[in-house]
Order: sequence, then C-alpha cells, then structure tokens
Amino acid sequence: MKPLPNSIEARDVAYHLHSYTDARKHEEAGPLIMERGEGIHVYDNNGKRYIEGMAGLWSVALGFGEKRLADAAMRQMEKLPYYHTFTHKGHGPSAELAEKLVSMAPVPMSKAYFTNSGSEANDTAIKLIWYRSNALDQPQRKKIISRVKGYHGVTLAAASLTGLPNNHRSFDLPMDGVLHTTCPHYRTMKKDGESEADFASRCAADLEEMIVREGPETIAAFFAEPVMGAGGVIVPPQGYWEAVQPVLKKHGILFVADEVICGFGRTGRMFGTETFNLEPDIMTLSKQLSSSYMPISALLVNENVYGPVADESARIGVWGHGYTGSGHPVAAAVALENLKIIEERDLVAHVQAISPRFMERLNQLGAHGLAVEARGIGLIGAVEFAHESLPNAGALGGRINKAMQERGLISRNMGDALAFCPPLIILEKQVDEMFDLAEAAVADVAGEIG
Ligand code: PMP
Repeated sequence: MKPLPNSIEARDVAYHLHSYTDARKHEEAGPLIMERGEGIHVYDNNGKRYIEGMAGLWSVALGFGEKRLADAAMRQMEKLPYYHTFTHKGHGPSAELAEKLVSMAPVPMSKAYFTNSGSEANDTAIKLIWYRSNALDQPQRKKIISRVKGYHGVTLAAASLTGLPNNHRSFDLPMDGVLHTTCPHYRTMKKDGESEADFASRCAADLEEMIVREGPETIAAFFAEPVMGAGGVIVPPQGYWEAVQPVLKKHGILFVADEVICGFGRTGRMFGTETFNLEPDIMTLSKQLSSSYMPISALLVNENVYGPVADESARIGVWGHGYTGSGHPVAAAVALENLKIIEERDLVAHVQAISPRFMERLNQLGAHGLAVEARGIGLIGAVEFAHESLPNAGALGGRINKAMQERGLISRNMGDALAFCPPLIILEKQVDEMFDLAEAAVADVAGEIG
C-alpha cells in the first residue's frame, strides 16, 4: 500500500535509505514504523502489537520497557554526558564497565577496549592483531581465517570476515588476506554417509589444511561465533570445537570468539565460550551488553594479546586507534545497569529454565510438513523450510516471515530459515504464544501453496 502524503511512512520513503532493504521495493511498500515497546512486545504506529521474536536484532535481552536503563542513562547524562578515553583520559563508567567485563570473562582476560558496534569491535580486533604481529616482529603474520556463513559485521574488514555472498558481492570484498573455511552445518555440508563426529573432524582437518597451504607463520587469527547467528543459527556439531581448538593452538593462531550474539546468556550460559568450553584470546561483545538501549561494544583481550601491544608501543608507534564514542559514559552506564539486572534476576538460570520449552516448540514447528530442519540452543533457534513450488532461495522464507508479521510475530528469514531469538525475559507461556503464532503463519502459507 502506498503511504499517505505527509505521513511518517511517506517521509521515511522520501528521505531514508534503509539497511538490508531493497530501496525501490521500499518506495512501493513503505516502512513498518514501530512506536513503542513493553516487555517482549513492540507496537506499531497503528497500535498493532507484535511479539518481538528476534529481540530487535538478537539484542534486547531485557525487553523493551526497562525503566532502570532509562534512569541510568538519564543520571549519567546529567552528571557527565560525554567524555572520551583518548590520551590517558577516562571516567567512572568506562573504568567500572571494563572491570566488570574482565571479572565476568569465563577465561582469563587482561583488558577491555570499547567500541560502538559489533563491526567496529571485530575491525578493532583485526587491527589489534596486526599491530601485535608487528610488535612481535612477525610482520608476515597477518592473514585471518573465518568461516563460510559466519557473520561478523559490515565495515570493510568485518564484512570481509563475514562469510555471506551478499556482504561481498558488489562491494569488491573480501579484502586480501581474509580466508573462509568450512561452515559447520552438518545437514548441508556433510558428505554421503558421514557421521556427525566425522564431519566435525573434517571441519578441523579442512581448517588445518588451509593453514598449512597458506603457511602457518602467515596466519594471525581465527574468528568464529560460538553459534552462528545471522548465517542461519548454526549450532556446531558435537566435537567441533574440541577438534578445531587444538589446530589453532598447534599453529600459534589467536582465537577470537565473536560473542556479539551469544554473549550475556543467549545460549544458556553467560557466554557461548562457556557453553562450548572455548579458550579465546579475544572476545568481542555487543548487543545484549546494553540490551541495545545504547550502542556499545567491547573487546576483551588476554595477556597474550595485551602484553606485546603494551610492551612495544614505544618502539613501533603508539596504538593509534580509538573512536570518539569509545567507552561513551552514557552507553557504559546503561551497560553496567543492564549487566546488574541480568545478574540480579539471574537471567542465565531463567534461560536454562525456559529453553526446554523453547526447544520443544521449535522442534514441533520443525516437524511441520514444509520444514526441513530445526536447530537451536538456549533461547536462539531457527526452522528451515522448503517447497518445490518456491525453489528460489528465500522465497518461501520471505512468505512465511510476512505471514508471521501479519499475525503479530516479528521473526527474520535468513534465506528459508526463520529465526527465533526473543528477549531473554520471555516467559514460558509467551514462548507458547510465539510458536502458536508461528505455527498459524506456516499453516497460512501451507494453505496458500497447497
Ligand atoms: N558479530 C555478530 C555475531 C553479529 O551477529 C553482528 C550483528 N548481527 C555483528 C558482529 C555486527 O554487529 P553490528 O551490527 O553492531 O556492527
């Protein structure tokens, strides 16, 4: 429907270029304008209520109406609305948040560094890793390995790490020196008759083969999400991390765990690193760090990374990196309050308590005649659909996504996989409501296509 003249929809169409949106289609269809939120729900400007089954962009852990976060922002705004962290300056919230994150880390970490988005955190990780290689007099050690279907952001380096064609094609990416190894999706990547355990071993063998082919001394780091998110919610097979991590250790390659989605309870532990017994040298964090009430992200780096960087900066040139907003006091204050609430309410235990029902309902949806697979862990999951009448990738997923939205459920289709990643505060009966809507929407589409 074409937006009414002078409506917010018409002004949006007239002036706003949207992310991940077909611009010409948007001119025709117009935007869905959200106006307010409360708990797991958001309301559009016609008053229609939706369950936000994606927690925004996998991020609004505390739901949409947490007044304590608004109060924390207001208090900091009134006290010191801005200060930076360059050239030995600092302020309370960034120091406190750094301390808090280092103390929460499930593996020994030395320092936190602040950025404003997941992409910036990963870009910064690459720069820090390159700088470290130079500090160690290993200037050849610069290549980075990530995985096909990994998602690490959209800035030039982070988009290069991302292993999705749409983020490379037409952007002349990936940049040189970024390599993508096998996606650990058993159903689509397994060879005939290959067991899950054999597949996990083969993923590690593929990685090692790439390292040896390229020259181990040229590989600086491996980036991976504990559970792949935007690539389709891909939970690695049993034994995957147990096989991959020794390969990295053997060749002296740094491991960066991109915890941007998994961090702060999503997988049923505080970090995906704990769920899968990972030993990263760097963790990148964002999204649920502040429940996305303010943009903020962080890197945690261990002594193995921090030490050479700190020791050698007098010799190789001071760490010439930083953002105006690095450690922004208002964002840091909101993040601190957010983490306090996550701990006070023991949301990790809540996720553990709710997850069985979430997985049961996810698997029930995955048993629908149109579904080919359900996959998930904690409170993140996806169901993939297929039908021969809609063979173009994403055509069926898009239809189902639209039907869900019509019924009052916000999901997101990644190709033909529909994702579910609700706010962590969701209650069991709301999990049922969410999947009831999803099932009804799938039935709508199944009815239409026969
Ligand atoms: N890493 C992961 C795992 C992500 O899911 C995302 C965003 N979806 C990013 C990095 C990039 O974060 P941002 O959009 O804040 O740049």
